[in-house]
Amino acid sequence: MVGMAQVRGTPKTYDVIVVGSGAGGGVAAHVLSLAGAKVCMLEAGGFYDGTKQSDMFKWPYNAPHRGAGTHAKPFGYFDATLVGGWHVPGEPYTNAPGTDWMWWRARMLGGRTNHYGRISLRMGPYDFKPYSRDGKGFDWPITYEELAPYYDKAEELIGVFGTPEGIENTPDGKFLPAPAPRAYERLVKLACDRLKIPCIPSRLAILTRSIHGRAACHYCAQCGRACGVNANFNSPGVHIFPAMKTGNLEVRTDAMAREVVVGPDGLARGVSYIDKKTRGEVTVNGKIVVLAASCCETARILLNSKSSRFPDGLANSSGLVGRYLMDTVGSDVDGYLPVLEDLPPRNEDGVGGMHMYMPWWNYKRQKAGRMPFARGYHIEFGGGRGQPGAGDFDGTERILGGGYGLELKRNVRRMYGAQVGFTGRGEMVPNADSYCELDPHTVDEWGIPVLRFHFKWSQDEILQAKHMQDTFKEIITAMGGKYFTEATAENNWGISRGGAIIHEVGAARMGADPKTSVLNSNCQAWDCKNLFVTDAAPFVSNADKNPTLTISALGWRTSEYIADQVKKRNLAA
Ligand SMILES: Cc1cc2nc3c(=O)[nH]c(=O)nc-3n(C[C@H](O)[C@H](O)[C@H](O)COP(=O)(O)OP(=O)(O)OC[C@H]3O[C@@H](n4cnc5c(N)ncnc54)[C@H](O)[C@@H]3O)c2cc1C
Ligand code: SF4
Repeated sequence: MVGMAQVRGTPKTYDVIVVGSGAGGGVAAHVLSLAGAKVCMLEAGGFYDGTKQSDMFKWPYNAPHRGAGTHAKPFGYFDATLVGGWHVPGEPYTNAPGTDWMWWRARMLGGRTNHYGRISLRMGPYDFKPYSRDGKGFDWPITYEELAPYYDKAEELIGVFGTPEGIENTPDGKFLPAPAPRAYERLVKLACDRLKIPCIPSRLAILTRSIHGRAACHYCAQCGRACGVNANFNSPGVHIFPAMKTGNLEVRTDAMAREVVVGPDGLARGVSYIDKKTRGEVTVNGKIVVLAASCCETARILLNSKSSRFPDGLANSSGLVGRYLMDTVGSDVDGYLPVLEDLPPRNEDGVGGMHMYMPWWNYKRQKAGRMPFARGYHIEFGGGRGQPGAGDFDGTERILGGGYGLELKRNVRRMYGAQVGFTGRGEMVPNADSYCELDPHTVDEWGIPVLRFHFKWSQDEILQAKHMQDTFKEIITAMGGKYFTEATAENNWGISRGGAIIHEVGAARMGADPKTSVLNSNCQAWDCKNLFVTDAAPFVSNADKNPTLTISALGWRTSEYIADQVKKRNLAA
């Protein structure tokens, strides 16, 4: 039952209100608090501190179902998610007929940065100008060179390991040393060398050396459970708690933003939110509002911020809020490598993620028009002898077809660690059929209208998925392995469902023209100069590079711009 909403104002006026505490909200709160601004952060979820709440050191037998995934905990019991996943209780979303969108949300301080994969790749120069390269999609209003100094700052703060490689459109960063490859990763590299596919040390936001007083990783491979020693990037441990130490950042958890409140002059003057604990509505006043509730939630807040001056929602004079939503293209193949059978037991834990990966290698062929699809993908892969979970026979049942007792045990021991899985992460070209809008018929537990999604892949993405399938089979075959896939032409080569890769970007894009974009090149709303966005909503394209490092760099740049504009008194009424 929805409680009686009571609107309560707070007299204080903050310099900045930041909505959301994930990668985008964390960086804005960090940079602005350290610059001296009085910041109020609103976070819809509860307080979370991985150094106190991580399940990193627990055993599967400490968990229900030995930690196996369930409807409520699809990625396993130890998923470092207070509330959320594919379903958030009381907060539905809907799909238009024909759409099969999935939406992963985490309601907690730090959002999805508590359990994300930490893959941290810079976008390259081509990625900012895709339209200029192949005539599809749109160009960003900024270049790689303009963002590069902010990638430097983001990497130096959060800590990213990697190696300088000088590969086309795969910029090197300010790297910590990379961990050594595991046995199966070395094998994959040898096969890739033969196939002329680059296979290089991965780039992950995990400390292989202590920096900024944070401990180095001790290689327990459990990053998905949150790190109890703060050795991987997570927004609370790296952005928010250090910012709170300045005394300039106040964090309000369980604060579900409903709308940005606009004054008669058309400027933002605060944010109205539901205090989930009292179920009352509160308005917090601020001179500047930064939205970072995650790409689609930010679009939702903008669309719900209706007023007589902005009847279609705030910052929406172009009609583009919610439009050109993108995810990443995914397709998978599993492999079994007999050459790895019966190896002596060894510790392959390492960091909580891959130590090697393959960046896209076909830029030249694509430019020459010799590829059947636009844009590229990189390859992520996993395998080895990690900690087994419940009912986990490491895929051996696919080969054994079952078994009993001693013989089964012997077989599983022999085959454990001989599996390897490949997955592509590819660029989607934005299209007009993919967007989110307010559902006129559905509200959430708090009475706030929810999003309805529309989503379509184009032939570019489907043919990219086919190429992934062919490549993975080639690599596995080159290692003398067997491959397993359910992908066929009928299921579009196993292409992932929209949203399934959890890289949603682009619902309030930046641009050079207020008629064709929501935000200007500083992620400032064209229609409301004291309103900014620092999550993935401003993205103009969705390069194959996982988005979070770019959210951090772009958010840092936007926050420095805000601080500069405040000094110049350009944001006041
Ligand atoms: C399992 C998993 C693996 C991933 N792996 C990678 C990876 O390896 N590399 C990579 O780059 N990306 C990865 N991602 C994606 C990455 O997590 C996101 O890109 C990133 O967290 C987005 O940051 P954000 O700040 O936009 O949103 P979030 O991290 O989702 O944070 C948004 C915050 O805003 C809050 N919020 C939402 N609505 C409101 C509201 N109305 N009022 C107040 N607060 C609100 C939410 O509760 C949340 O805390 C992964 C994601 C998952 C789930
Ligand atoms: S692998 Fe390293 S960074 Fe990840 S949880 Fe373990 S100690 Fe922390």
